Amino acid sequence: MNGHVPDSRHGPDAGHQLLRFPLLMMVATAAVLLVFAAASLVLENRRHTLQEAGRENLNVARLVGFHTMYVINSSVLLLDSVADHVRKKGFAYFHGEEGKRFLQMRTQDYPDLQSMLLIDRHGQLLVGATLPFPPPRVNYEDRDYFQAHVGGQDLVFGEQLVSRTQGRRGVTISRAIRGGDGAFEGIVLLTIESSHFERMFQSVRGLGNEEITVFRNDGAIFARYPEIEVGKRYPQASVFAKALEMSSGVYEATSVFDERLRLVAFERLGDFPLIVVSSQLREQVLSSWWSFCLVVFFTLVLALVWLGAAGRYAFRTVLHNETLQLELARLARTDALTDLANRRHFTELAEKELARSQRYGSSLAMLMVDIDHFKRINDSHGHAGGDEVLRQLGEVFRLTLRNIDVVGRLGGEEFAIVLAQSGLDSALEVAERLRATIEQQGVLLSSGILLHYTVSIGVTALTGNEDSVERLLKRADDALYLAKNGGRNTVRSA
Ligand code: GH3
Ligand code: MG
Ligand code: MG
Repeated sequence: MNGHVPDSRHGPDAGHQLLRFPLLMMVATAAVLLVFAAASLVLENRRHTLQEAGRENLNVARLVGFHTMYVINSSVLLLDSVADHVRKKGFAYFHGEEGKRFLQMRTQDYPDLQSMLLIDRHGQLLVGATLPFPPPRVNYEDRDYFQAHVGGQDLVFGEQLVSRTQGRRGVTISRAIRGGDGAFEGIVLLTIESSHFERMFQSVRGLGNEEITVFRNDGAIFARYPEIEVGKRYPQASVFAKALEMSSGVYEATSVFDERLRLVAFERLGDFPLIVVSSQLREQVLSSWWSFCLVVFFTLVLALVWLGAAGRYAFRTVLHNETLQLELARLARTDALTDLANRRHFTELAEKELARSQRYGSSLAMLMVDIDHFKRINDSHGHAGGDEVLRQLGEVFRLTLRNIDVVGRLGGEEFAIVLAQSGLDSALEVAERLRATIEQQGVLLSSGILLHYTVSIGVTALTGNEDSVERLLKRADDALYLAKNGGRNTVRSA
């Protein structure tokens, strides 16, 4: 029944969903943006961390390269001058105390020198700068560097080895001495303490705990920190392929030493057959990044929880306001006592019904219902008793009439009903049925008294297009007047 105003107390209607949706979208969008921002932050930080580590690594390689070049260059200069002198004076001249003093003098300012030896063409040790004279009988013919000289090389960078005269780890640089006819006469050999490079490498290492290696082109180790077993070669190291393309660079690869993923930086040492490699464990580089991720993650979770709480609060507030608005709107068009449409709302609904009837040319009837001698009911059962009668009558309308009928309380104990698609005859029937039902039923008051009362009803029907709600009401009221005059508890038509 249209007169029964929709009740918002039983939950919001579809209109609500339209208001909830934008709020939900806003919260969802904010959440997505937050997650996106956190992800970008974390990814950007990762890229930056790796880039910084690479840069630091390359700096270490360059610094080590610079220093190593310095050591090598001064070594080569020293070897050249000694070899020149030996060639001029003749090999035999140095085979004695004279030779030892000469070598001693030439090498006294050289840092971390293990030894400088003069070796003849058979590999036999002749004299050593730091050895007593005569020196121990030692032969070097089997050493790789010696064989390289025999094979025709003039300058040889050796690999890490354990000295036969000193018993310590060192690395050799040697120069061949050839006579005027080019015949091989022997070599002058310089051995630098491995610890010299290790100390230097340690001092230039950044916070990243870089591993530093100076490779010879064939994979032999010239110098390294941390130290490893002497004599091993690593021709499969990834740096050799890279160094073919460029003189220095940064990349990621699995280490030949520990088989773990490392950030690698390298630098070729000028024209020498040596490459400096500095590398850091990738997982170590990224460990600070993981801590950063953790912080971002927890911040994100907190932000999302906060957003959720704020969203929930806003959602509830909006919902509450909407419910309140709907309830207010409902109250504004409802009669509080009977829950039927009030006069204004009834008029609106009636006008809509009338317009529809006029559009489709269908019939329509208007009933005016008034309780008989209501004043007496009030007088004998109190105003509250009168209210109970009014409420009860509203229920009777709800139960007796169809859904499409419009009922309103016009004021006091006066009600109006629009019967859609009803002509005068069927309206009279409905009115009569109402009247009879009310007369029979009565009202069981809360005081326990069964009160019988009656109503008078005026009926009118739509006659032509010129009709208005106002005129229909007027005609129904006139008919009601007739009913009252006709003795009450009766139905009359205009
Ligand atoms: P009649 O048969 O001629 O209609 O007599 P009546 O007494 O019903 O008519 P009248 O219009 O003279 O009296 C209506 C009374 O209804 C007057 C007023 O006190 C009472 N009334 C109006 N509104 C309410 C209400 O909301 N509650 C109650 N209990 N009484 C109301
Ligand atoms: Mg009355
Ligand atoms: Mg009245």
